[in-house]
Amino acid sequence: MLEIKNLHARVADEGTEILRGVDLTVAAGEVAAIMGPNGSGKSTLSYIIAGHEDYEVTEGDILYNGQSILEMDPAERAATGVFLAFQYPLEIPGVPTMTFLKTALNSQRKARGEGEMTTPDFIRRAKAAAAELRIDMAMLKRPLNVGFSGGEKKRAEILQMALLEPKLSVMDETDSGLDIDALKIVADGVNALRSPERAFLVITHYQRLLDYIVPDTVHVLYKGRIIRSGDKDLALQLENEGYGQIIGEAA
Ligand code: ADP
Ligand code: MG
Ligand code: MG
Repeated sequence: MLEIKNLHARVADEGTEILRGVDLTVAAGEVAAIMGPNGSGKSTLSYIIAGHEDYEVTEGDILYNGQSILEMDPAERAATGVFLAFQYPLEIPGVPTMTFLKTALNSQRKARGEGEMTTPDFIRRAKAAAAELRIDMAMLKRPLNVGFSGGEKKRAEILQMALLEPKLSVMDETDSGLDIDALKIVADGVNALRSPERAFLVITHYQRLLDYIVPDTVHVLYKGRIIRSGDKDLALQLENEGYGQIIGEAA
């Protein structure tokens, strides 16, 4: 489903290379975890998959179902089923969360040539999805992310993901700011979406999340390259030994 080949990228208005030859393949149905110390380029990789304009690909390619997505804008990528849950979700004053979600869903449907979802249908779906994530409907009446706690922001991201039903979900440190109960609820929400047609790229700094969202593969990103890949045991090894050993071996 996702094939990243020798990806090099930098911040568009700066020279510094952040990704320095990332190779990564994720099959449909797979949950791949990306781990790595702070500053490795994890968020940059997720932004580039989503099509953020601040970053420029200088070499390599990203194939989604066999086709390069580099020339597609973020909305086109979203319409084909690519979704990014942000590490730092944006606050949008004045836009109720519910309105935002409905607009996101309907613009995706429009881009796919599908009709608008009616308000009653949307509310029914949103209520069901919010209940699963134990999100209070009162929260959805508030402006998107404004005054939300860290955990509420992350839950709102996963609610959006559940409503959009993406094929490829990239989750950037969704575990940060979540206490253990919220982490379990979010993990249940993600696990409920797992299916043979969907893939997930779960980015995390810590192993803990992977106790609840058990990955098929684990990749360590360091200084803009994947320096080690393995199965879920690699995450446990990192938990016990830290990144030092693997970084030393890669050097
Ligand atoms: P991670 O998510 O693994 O912590 P990031 O992708 O956030 O890593 O950052 C990787 C490196 O790229 C860091 O050194 C960071 O400072 C730099 N970087 C990322 N985005 C920008 C930007 N927009 N402008 C300047 N430097 C950036
Ligand atoms: Mg970071
Ligand atoms: Mg990050």
